[in-house]
Amino acid sequence: MSKVSNLIFGGAKHTVSSPYGNRKQIHTSAGDTSSFHSGTDYATYGKKLPQYAIAEGTILSCGTAADGAKYVWVSYPSLNVKMLHYHLDRFVVHSGQSVKKGTLLGYTGMTGKATGIHLHLGIKSLSGGSFIDPEAWSENEYEKLTKPKYSPGNYKVNTSVLNVREGPGTKYKVKPFTKLTKSAQSKIKKLSGKAVNGYVKGLTFTCYEVKPDGKYVWGRTPSGWVALDYCERV
Ligand SMILES: [Zn+2]
Repeated sequence: MSKVSNLIFGGAKHTVSSPYGNRKQIHTSAGDTSSFHSGTDYATYGKKLPQYAIAEGTILSCGTAADGAKYVWVSYPSLNVKMLHYHLDRFVVHSGQSVKKGTLLGYTGMTGKATGIHLHLGIKSLSGGSFIDPEAWSENEYEKLTKPKYSPGNYKVNTSVLNVREGPGTKYKVKPFTKLTKSAQSKIKKLSGKAVNGYVKGLTFTCYEVKPDGKYVWGRTPSGWVALDYCERV
């Protein structure tokens, strides 16, 4: 199990039943499996679990393979990979469809060469090549690609006035000077000589929590939420 398989199953219980790599051939009613396993198998304890997209992407193709397996190929440009969901009981997307994180793709099944209900997950780089190890990719590449740009800590404002909002996003109201903490008010007055509705350049603050929304990464500070993209770490 990995971060990626957890996202695919929406946190529902599953387990690796056959890892990527060399393995013993299995005889199924649809024929023998290959000796090299080009993906990871995740068993779902007999349940036809829903499978979800893990990021913004596009359905490259879906259908029924020659061996009878129902499948979906989805590409994720931000992750530079495409993923094959195989042995599906059914799929609910169509070729060319845009998906985002959490879009339902289909349900786990045992179509094709399978002896039980499971997902065979295959991953390839967007540029092609052979299948790579899904669990290793999740541990290494996925972790790196999705690591947040910012983390809690101390920051300094890098722009003339930085709005302080009631929540993490531009849809939340900007707080006026009087709604900021006493400590922020005195820092603002000291740095700019007047009451400004927001953090001013050079003001330092502590960020306790980080949340991306829209094109900014928001940090929770004692006075409210600010876009950390306009700040530098100190
Ligand atoms: Zn497999």
